[in-house]
Amino acid sequence: MSKKVAVVTGANKGIGLAIVKGLCKAGFKGDILLTARNEKLGQEAIAGLQSEGCKNVIFHQLDVCDQGSALKLKKFLEEKYGGLDVLINNAGIAFKHSAPEPFGEQAEVTMRTNFWGMLWVCHALLPILRPNARVVNVSSFVSKKSLDQCNAELKAKFKNKDLSEEELCLLMGEFVHAAQTGDHTAQGWPNTAYGTTKARSLSETRPGDGILLNACCPGWVRTDMAGSNATKSPEEGAETPVYLAMLPEGAKEPHGQLVWDKTVQEW
Ligand code: NDP
Repeated sequence: MSKKVAVVTGANKGIGLAIVKGLCKAGFKGDILLTARNEKLGQEAIAGLQSEGCKNVIFHQLDVCDQGSALKLKKFLEEKYGGLDVLINNAGIAFKHSAPEPFGEQAEVTMRTNFWGMLWVCHALLPILRPNARVVNVSSFVSKKSLDQCNAELKAKFKNKDLSEEELCLLMGEFVHAAQTGDHTAQGWPNTAYGTTKARSLSETRPGDGILLNACCPGWVRTDMAGSNATKSPEEGAETPVYLAMLPEGAKEPHGQLVWDKTVQEW
């Protein structure tokens, strides 16, 4: 049987790096691919982990905004491992409150990484998931709050269990357009909806394969993104993503859920 393999995106620092370490400490039996868009930062992170005893960690370049780099990673996984067992979509960006860029620009740039980037990585890598694979999208409690702030019509669209990926993509495009024309009310749109959409399509296309896909919130975590006042350490922030990635073979749930502190949330 081929060796197992896990991929963590945006793992050169912050929660992603802690997830790689957490998988290693939790005894993930296989290789863990620490991916980063910047090769030097990725290699430095690997060196740090190896000095802490994580020997089964390997670097691979991945810029989630570059579809070509996702396809290169797919080819590498197919050739070296013949598939993929764990995918953790962690890479993300957030503008600071004090950022000078106009909101329309912030919306476009954020959507490119946090939604389209994750979508492209999923399009490249979900087709090579092996049975019993685990997929974890690191989302945010902010997306749940944003959903609550959406108007009733929009809320109903996002909560619709039959929302297709195409419809969701159109909604995301509409949001950026509204933000650029100043005609928006919500400060961010929920990206947890993508997890639900994908989880449903995996259940439909690969029933009986035991694949579980969930979104999670790591909490408020002390990283470059959230700053030093946040309440959790990166290791604590990694706990729920690692728990979801390590759900034992044969587990039937959670699937298609938003999980926070290892607990399924209503959204
Ligand atoms: P950091 O800013 O510390 O780390 C973000 C990581 O994503 C970095 O490794 C960064 O790489 C990488 N990244 C950004 N853009 C890309 C890209 N195009 N391709 C590949 N990698 C990229 O943030 P956190 O660790 O705090 O955040 C990790 C995830 O957790 C994010 O998805 C965030 O939204 C989510 N989250 C964080 C919370 C918190 O309190 N910290 C709360 C809720 C959710 P580089 O170093 O090159 O910029």
